[in-house]
Amino acid sequence: MNDTAGMEPWQWPEAHWREIVNHVRAGRTLKPKAWKDGARCAVAFSFDSDHETNELRDGGGSISKLSQGQYGARKGVPRILDILKRHAVPASFYVPAVTALLYPEEQRRVVAEGHEVGIHGWIHERNSVLPLDAERDLQMRSADTLEKVTGVRPVGIRTPSWDFSPHTLAITRDMGLLYDSSLMADDDCHELTLDGEATGVVELPVEWIRDDAVYFNMDRFSTLRPYTPPSGALEIFKAEFDAAYADGGIFQLTMHPHHVGHRSRIAMLEALIRHIRTHDGIWFATHADVVRHAKANG
Ligand SMILES: [Zn+2]
Repeated sequence: MNDTAGMEPWQWPEAHWREIVNHVRAGRTLKPKAWKDGARCAVAFSFDSDHETNELRDGGGSISKLSQGQYGARKGVPRILDILKRHAVPASFYVPAVTALLYPEEQRRVVAEGHEVGIHGWIHERNSVLPLDAERDLQMRSADTLEKVTGVRPVGIRTPSWDFSPHTLAITRDMGLLYDSSLMADDDCHELTLDGEATGVVELPVEWIRDDAVYFNMDRFSTLRPYTPPSGALEIFKAEFDAAYADGGIFQLTMHPHHVGHRSRIAMLEALIRHIRTHDGIWFATHADVVRHAKANG
């Protein structure tokens, strides 16, 4: 790539932009004809338990922002777990290692109640700004830390902020992880390729459309404001589910305890579950179980 140094993108040779595009790609689709026990639609809820790490990862120590993160642990996660238990819905929690070390009991409760805990970085770092050695070390230490805290070795990763470096997929493959859930090339599970080669790593795709942070996040010192009411987010999520159901696919949703855990919003989550429950042939599952089924039957 050195021969392109100093070039503008419109001057790049074709081989160069092809190399960039083909580095990490969606490969073969893994869409099963039916889900577990003949279900028509798989529903995969996820909660990214960032808590205080959103502030720490930028080197910040704002007591105000840290308190916002603590809300996720004090109020958000308990409310979420209560609702999931009431409706018998298993889910996946992506937990930075620092969160797991700050709140080990929370992670043990999550696992004890039948949910999955997956990798979500060390301190919610941005992978794309890390040197390779640091990224590899942090990803492996994160997996070890989660295993030490929960007693269960994680099988999947959601990169912090869905940020992906050119090395992330190779690290994930070399660690023998079953899946990633950070990329957006499809609605259905598929195998990721690296420079044209199959990796064996399954992608369970995410999308900003199905992320509560897009609608609910707020920052006092920038123009970031939540303009969507919980009813608006519910309308969007219901429409995404309805289309996934019609398609016989996956309805995957990303939420954050410090966003969705608030009183005015947690009711939205329960209303969404009730809406989904009015349909026949729903399989609520962790991301790991959805991926296992897709890999075996896709
Ligand atoms: Zn996160």
